[in-house]
Amino acid sequence: MECPICGSESITTLKSKKISSKKKEIKELLLKCNECESVFKDSMSVDKPISIRLIISEYESSKKTSIDICPNENLAKDNILLSEVGEVEITSLETKDGRRAQNALARDVSTIWANSMEVPSRVGISVDLTGKVDSFKVEVERDFEFAADDFVKIAEYVIRINVIKTEERKTRDGFAKAKITQRVYGKPVKFNNYDYDLTDKIVSRKEAVDKR
Ligand SMILES: [Zn+2]
Repeated sequence: MECPICGSESITTLKSKKISSKKKEIKELLLKCNECESVFKDSMSVDKPISIRLIISEYESSKKTSIDICPNENLAKDNILLSEVGEVEITSLETKDGRRAQNALARDVSTIWANSMEVPSRVGISVDLTGKVDSFKVEVERDFEFAADDFVKIAEYVIRINVIKTEERKTRDGFAKAKITQRVYGKPVKFNNYDYDLTDKIVSRKEAVDKR
């Protein structure tokens, strides 16, 4: 915005009035130039935010809510949105013509699917007991890192991680953040030193089921 008399961009707003129509919000401004002191009027129009259905998953359950977004905003998988229940990460979009999309303009979107960033990640830990598996679910911070060859204390075991399974791959020599890790596999070792203890992070345990 610039002064229509002298072209200066140093402007003070004296008055501002909002007028709302169905789709637009118009701001009528009374402005004063700081250079030549002329007083003039201007108006700005912005698209009104629209309400989009938002489905947030938290582990096995999901929560339905909605979120207000500007119609011209581009939405994409992995974008972070601030919802009424905190930060969420977009996992998928459904457009008004019923397609699933990785990105779309907000005005074309009917539903946003997202994961909550506010809850810890749930990761499975499988302890390989040679022929049997002792299986745990633990809850850890989303940014917690599991690495191959970590020594981990869990319940009565100290295990050495040999495989990390993420949403996309299995690794025997890398590492992965908890938020993308589905399951960690390890074998018990015979000594008592470990890198970290997950015992108090256990939320469930399925003991010694037969391996198939
Ligand atoms: Zn001026």
